[in-house]
Amino acid sequence: MNAIEVRGLTVRYRGASAPAVDGMDFTVRTGEVLGLLGPSGAGKSTVHRVLTRRIRRFTGSVRVLGVPVARGRDRDFFERVGVGFELPAHLPALTARENLAAFAALHRGPTDDPADLLDLLDLAEAADRRTAEFSKGMLVRLNLARALLHRPALLLLDEPTSGLDPVRAEAVRRILRDRARAGTTVLVTTHDMRTAEHACDRVAFVVDGRIAALDGPRDLRLAHGNPGAVVELRRDGALERRELPLADLESALGLGGARLETVHSREATLDDVFARLTGRRIGGEP
Ligand code: ADP
Repeated sequence: MNAIEVRGLTVRYRGASAPAVDGMDFTVRTGEVLGLLGPSGAGKSTVHRVLTRRIRRFTGSVRVLGVPVARGRDRDFFERVGVGFELPAHLPALTARENLAAFAALHRGPTDDPADLLDLLDLAEAADRRTAEFSKGMLVRLNLARALLHRPALLLLDEPTSGLDPVRAEAVRRILRDRARAGTTVLVTTHDMRTAEHACDRVAFVVDGRIAALDGPRDLRLAHGNPGAVVELRRDGALERRELPLADLESALGLGGARLETVHSREATLDDVFARLTGRRIGGEP
């Protein structure tokens, strides 16, 4: 069962010489995280606007949770879908906690405790501050909390790691993976490679309103990359770098017909060495 089905989607803004989205086809399976990855201006937000019913003028067919986006009531739609906008919507005169309570009141079904969501998004300390004082990164996180509030079956998120530091961006990626594992479908637009690589089951490369490729991140790397190993060796005191095609390593290792797909060296990182020498970590995971 597909949560999203997009066929031949074309969107042309008034007065624009070229379509912003130009004949896109893709589906998002229930419970998967699909990333739309591409540079600024590629058309990702425009797809997000169609999926979230903010653009009604398009050609092609777009179904979200089985319902064509041009049909059905918005109210029913937003009960089942959690939306995160690129420019976060919030009520600046209210605190973060009051914002979530206000949005929770709009839903008919059960909602999560705002305190738990603020905790999840590392906003517990800012819970009682007016959101007018929030930084862009804090608003992006509040926006995600708001999208999660009513436990939607589908999350449509536009750049959910934009403006976040690496640790918080990773926390958001973890939340997306956790939700997907629990059955939520996620469509995420991003220009962040790490989000595409580490949060998405499949990634669509979007350029000039078209999908240039769509597959799992590992499959894309293996199918279109040029796999090989870079080795550094020391000869007569001098450091040499050599590139070895994987085929050379395959025959050297005598793999008996098995194919080598990737090679990773296991030398320590500076962080590992720091931890070994001092007993402390500089950053990242403990
Ligand atoms: P992305 O999200 O990948 O950065 P967008 O979907 O925002 O890309 O934009 C795709 C193209 O459509 C760009 O060329 C952009 O300039 C144009 N565009 C976006 N919004 C509008 C609008 N409201 N009116 C006219 N053109 C727009």
